[in-house]
Amino acid sequence: MEKVILVLNAGSSSLKFSVFALPAADEMRAVAVGQVEGLGTAPRLKVKDGAGERIADAQWDTSEVASHAQALQRIAELLRARFQGSVLAGVGHRVVHGGPDYSAPLLITQEAMTRLETFVPLAPLHQPHNLAAIRAVQEVQPDLPQVACFDTAFHRTQKMVGDLYGLPYEYYERGIRRYGFHGLSYEYIAATLPAIAPEIAGGRVVVAHLGSGASMCAIDNGRSVGSSMGFTALDGLLMGTRPGNMDPGIVLYLLQQEGLSAKQIEDLLYKRSGLLGLSGIGNDMRVLLASDVPRARLAIDHFVYRISRELGALAAVLGGLDALVFTAGIGENSARIRELVCEQAAWLGIEVDTAANEGGGPRISRPGGKASAWVVPTNEELMIARHTRKLLAL
Ligand code: AMP
Repeated sequence: MEKVILVLNAGSSSLKFSVFALPAADEMRAVAVGQVEGLGTAPRLKVKDGAGERIADAQWDTSEVASHAQALQRIAELLRARFQGSVLAGVGHRVVHGGPDYSAPLLITQEAMTRLETFVPLAPLHQPHNLAAIRAVQEVQPDLPQVACFDTAFHRTQKMVGDLYGLPYEYYERGIRRYGFHGLSYEYIAATLPAIAPEIAGGRVVVAHLGSGASMCAIDNGRSVGSSMGFTALDGLLMGTRPGNMDPGIVLYLLQQEGLSAKQIEDLLYKRSGLLGLSGIGNDMRVLLASDVPRARLAIDHFVYRISRELGALAAVLGGLDALVFTAGIGENSARIRELVCEQAAWLGIEVDTAANEGGGPRISRPGGKASAWVVPTNEELMIARHTRKLLAL
């Protein structure tokens, strides 16, 4: 019987999943990709096969599918019917936080779950859902091996001097340090560069993961040496609905002078800021680029400005720059944003090739510049599947 791996990525109101077939020698390929969105409000399932053809599209009643566990049961029924001739050999999960210790994927045991629970306060909006998905699978198939792949793990190669905040040292020991996120995306890019861009794979590379969450990572010879996200995924760049790096005094001001509660500030920082808050019209970059509302332009300009500042900072961490790589929804699809960022990076020796940029790359800079620019699509799900296959020796 053919073996398959299930990859799960559980968010607060969504559950994304992919099924990977395991050909003997070749790279794995996704044979089904789907998501449930609107959990808790109006749950909706969409599934496509490996070629992008629709397998399922269903709207569920909240009274029937209220939780991740219930959604998972429905997904399991659908996948069992579709993959009758296959056996599920393992499940790989995206788990946002691996704390200070975990620098590699982990086979789930009871002991591991207890340890991962202790990281819930570090990522209260994500970690509980990630762990709930693991428990939901355990309930249905207790003996099925499960693997946790962490968004923080790839960054554990960073030096302690860069991990610190300038608080009294005991706060560092209590876990208040820079963890960095989007690690599975960066790891995938680092693993892909030797094939796509061998001339830069061993060099000093900054990867810009520009999606609805956005961050940048400095990679030296394939290893993470710096990242824009820190203790939480609020730090660094301007994002769809998050402000990115800002003076912590603003939080004090909002608490003390404007009388906002912690919950209201959380809502402001995670859901109402960023491109949405600045533009006043939305968090979708496509909408902003097509708009002639002045604040949409201002939001885009600030987005690019913040990327440029961070690029300078990460180039300093690397001691120079050989290449800039764009990835994720905006990075892979918006030639305009890439062009604006590259223009600002001219001082680092990047000269954008307009036609190559419009064509989507992979190389989008002219030859001969001191540094090059690239577009490399990310694939976090495949990274999780690879880790799961390796750890379970499948
Ligand atoms: P992700 O979180 O990686 O799925 O990325 C989502 C973001 O990518 C959203 O802000 C979308 O507006 C943006 N995006 C997707 N396609 C395009 C495009 N063609 N041009 C600009 N932004 C895009």
